[in-house]
Amino acid sequence: MGEKLCLAARWAIPVVGEPIHDAVVVIDNGVIEGVYARPQFNSIYKNQQIARAEDYKEAVIMPGLINLHSHLDYSALRAFATDEPFFQWIEGLVKRSRDWTSEKWLQSALYGARLAAFTGTSTVVDSSYSGQAAKALAQVGLRGVVGLEIFGLCDAESDATWSNWLSRFEALNETDFAPLREALDKQTITLTVSPHAPYTVCPSLWLKAATWAKKFNLPVMAHLAESIEECQWLAQSNDIVHEFLSFSMRTDTDSEKLKPRWAGRGLTPVKHLKNYGLLNEWLIAAHAVHTDSEDLSTLYEHNVKIAHCPRSNARLKNGLAPYSKMLEHGITVGLGTDSLASNDDLNLIAEAQFALNAHRIGSATGEQNEDEHHFPTARQLVEAMTMEAAIALKMDHLIGSLQAGKRADIAVFALPPTPLSDDEKESLCPYNLLVSGGARLRDLIVDGQFVVSEGKLSRN
Ligand SMILES: [Zn+2]
Repeated sequence: MGEKLCLAARWAIPVVGEPIHDAVVVIDNGVIEGVYARPQFNSIYKNQQIARAEDYKEAVIMPGLINLHSHLDYSALRAFATDEPFFQWIEGLVKRSRDWTSEKWLQSALYGARLAAFTGTSTVVDSSYSGQAAKALAQVGLRGVVGLEIFGLCDAESDATWSNWLSRFEALNETDFAPLREALDKQTITLTVSPHAPYTVCPSLWLKAATWAKKFNLPVMAHLAESIEECQWLAQSNDIVHEFLSFSMRTDTDSEKLKPRWAGRGLTPVKHLKNYGLLNEWLIAAHAVHTDSEDLSTLYEHNVKIAHCPRSNARLKNGLAPYSKMLEHGITVGLGTDSLASNDDLNLIAEAQFALNAHRIGSATGEQNEDEHHFPTARQLVEAMTMEAAIALKMDHLIGSLQAGKRADIAVFALPPTPLSDDEKESLCPYNLLVSGGARLRDLIVDGQFVVSEGKLSRN
């Protein structure tokens, strides 16, 4: 007792259940004790000691945001090659970062982790080439699920590639970097595997990754059906992907390694993974832009989760994913920013704002993936970046909503000043206020600790 913290504001959005006006959230030793309307709070807590109370007044208190797809490693490449076609852009990215030292990767990831914290993200689900993203998240004090990336096209080399990956994983898992050591021990950071994409990882290697992850109940993060070129290469052939692979695998363009037996069989990326038994409840597939109804039914049947990344898809000219259709199929979909190398920032509220508008353009023109006449609401997008993402991670018993018993991962967004009266303010929809109303982060609490307080990071 005596450890209780009370946060009050005009609105609380618990996500599960309806928004609460004039709300108080009580936290006790890192755990949410309850979310109340003020009169209810006053009657329950009238005789109790409160260690710290914050009244944010014109603000929204909500669960910390969950970024379901990012690469903090590439944060230093902000505004990188914004006009390049997708595969030229990836090639440029690889060339620019290939010789970075561990320290450079860490500094890049730290820059991204800080930006994520400053915009209310409490959990980052990251595919990390270097593994340094895990250290960065731990240092800033965020929760994280970090997949160490794996690549390998050649079936004959799968055993060697896998054992090499396992040693890299073990080294990271046994780190003596103090913040990460502590975060791994208290399980605020989880390490897992991230097979890059169907055009860079052969089925036998992917199967090793998926089998290993399943054994430890760990999510698997991958890119899926991101570009038309990927779909064409898998179904038949595509020269652009072929060129890219010859560059990234540092091998001859005529090599058989670049024309594997399992490609060119007329399958979509989704059907290809299904064929090899690689779709399951642990897979979090980023993008899924080029997916038809059959693909979406297949993803739903296998309980695959999707990270929707509309701004990255727009920047790289890959199209607009059929978000409403995914929801109609019953798929769990979260939001991801992808990396700063393909997005303006790592701000999930801005991602939601963009999604809201982009899907409305799509619904009016009917041009994008037949997603006409359906568009998401602000509430759906708030759910996507909180509870749905928590479900995707199988962490919904811990995070994703403001509910008694969950870990205290909480973001407080200040609402801009307005000439409206109190009654008029009360009549506004808090979901719309949050996504479209100019809300700005004030404080961020992760696992009961203030990570951002009054615009400053508590740790470095
Ligand atoms: Zn990505």
